[in-house]
Amino acid sequence: MSLLKMKLHWQILIALVLAVAVGYFFGNQVSYISWMGDIFLRLLKMIIIPLIFSSIVSGVTSMGSGKNLGRLGIKTLSYYLMTSLFAILTGLLLVNLIQPGVGVDMGFNSNAGTFDAHEGKLSEIFIRMIPENVFEALMNGDILSIIFFAVLFGFFINSAKSKYQQTLTTFFDSFFDVMMKMTMFIIRFTPLGILGIVATEVARNAEQLSSIAGSMAIYMLTVIIALSIHAFITLPLVVRVVGKAHPYRHLNNMITPLLTAFSTSSSSATLPLTIDAVENRSGVSNKITSFTLPLGATINMDGTALYECVAALFIAQVYGIDLSFGQQMLVVVTALLASIGAAGIPMAGLVMITIILSAVNLPLEGVGLILAVDRILDMCRTSVNVWSDSCGAVIIAKSEGEKTLV
Ligand code: ASP
Repeated sequence: MSLLKMKLHWQILIALVLAVAVGYFFGNQVSYISWMGDIFLRLLKMIIIPLIFSSIVSGVTSMGSGKNLGRLGIKTLSYYLMTSLFAILTGLLLVNLIQPGVGVDMGFNSNAGTFDAHEGKLSEIFIRMIPENVFEALMNGDILSIIFFAVLFGFFINSAKSKYQQTLTTFFDSFFDVMMKMTMFIIRFTPLGILGIVATEVARNAEQLSSIAGSMAIYMLTVIIALSIHAFITLPLVVRVVGKAHPYRHLNNMITPLLTAFSTSSSSATLPLTIDAVENRSGVSNKITSFTLPLGATINMDGTALYECVAALFIAQVYGIDLSFGQQMLVVVTALLASIGAAGIPMAGLVMITIILSAVNLPLEGVGLILAVDRILDMCRTSVNVWSDSCGAVIIAKSEGEKTLV
C-alpha cells in the first residue's frame, strides 16, 4: 500500500517515529523540515478563531430555546468539574504513594527567576470572560471572551425578527460549513506538520532528555501512570456508565486528534481536528460539539489539573515540606482552578503552577526543578485534555438522546 493511501492515523504514527529518529540523529539539520511544522501550526491557528466563533453561533442558534442552552450548559460544566476532580485525586493518590520527590538531590535546582507569580488572577477568570471590546478579544485570541460573546450572540439571534433570524442562521451555518471544509483540507497535512514539529522538539531537547536524573524519571513516571489511569480507566468508565457508549471505539476514532495534541502540546491548535473526529467519526451532532468542544478546549483540562497537583506535591517533597491534609486539599482546589484558567497552549500548565505554589507557600523556585521535563509531560497531559473533552461531547450527546456512532 502506498504511503499516501494509508489511513491518516497510520501516516501520523509513521511521521512521529520518523520525527524522533530525525530529531535525534540529525539534530543539526532539522531546519530543513522544521518549516513544515511552522506552516502547519500557523494554518491551525489561522482557523481557530473563525471556527470557534461560527461553530458556537451556529450551535447555539440550532438549540432554539434558552432552556436547552441552560440544560446543556449545566451538564457540560458538571462533567468538566467532575472529571477534573477525578483526575486531580488520581494524581494526589499516586504522588503520595510513589513519593517521587522524597530524597531528591537539590543539586540541579535551577533558575526559576523568569516565572512571575500569577497570584490573584484566578478570582478574575470569570469576570475577565466578559470582553470589554469584542474586536480586541478576537484580535488577541482571547478564547473565553470570544465564547462568551458568541453564546450571547447566538442566543439573541433566536429572538430577532424571523426574517433576520433566518438570514443570520443561514449565514453562520454556511460560514461554519466553509470553516469545516478548510479544516478538512488542513488536516490532510497533519503528518508533515507533525514531522516538522516533533523533529524540532526532539533535536532541541535531546541532550537534556538523556541527562535526566533518576528521581526525575520517577516523577515523570508518576505523572504518566496517573494520566494513563485517568485516560484508560476512569474516563472510559464514565463514558460507559454515564454515557452508555463504547469508550474504546470512540478512542479509536480519536487517534488523529490525540496524536496531534501529543505533537503540538496545544488543545486549542488541536480543536479543529477534535471537532472533525467527534462529529464525523463518532457521530456526535454539530449542535453538541459546537458548544462543548471549544469550551472544553479552553476550560476542561483534566491532564493539566492532574499534572498541577502532582508537580506541586513533588516540589513540596523535594524541599522536605510536609503538607497537612488541609493544605493538600487547598492544592486540589487551586489545581482545579489553575486548570480552568490555563490556556490551551504549550507550557500554559507550567506557568500556572506558580499559583498553587504561592497558595500553599511553597518556594516558587521549585518550578525550576520540573522545567527540564515539562515538554514531554505537556505532550501527555494535552492528549488527556483533548481526550476528556471528546468523551464529554459523547456523554452529553447520549444524554440528549442522540444516536451516535459509538
Ligand atoms: N498544553 C496544554 C493544553 O494545551 C495546557 C498545559 O500546558 O497544561 O491543553
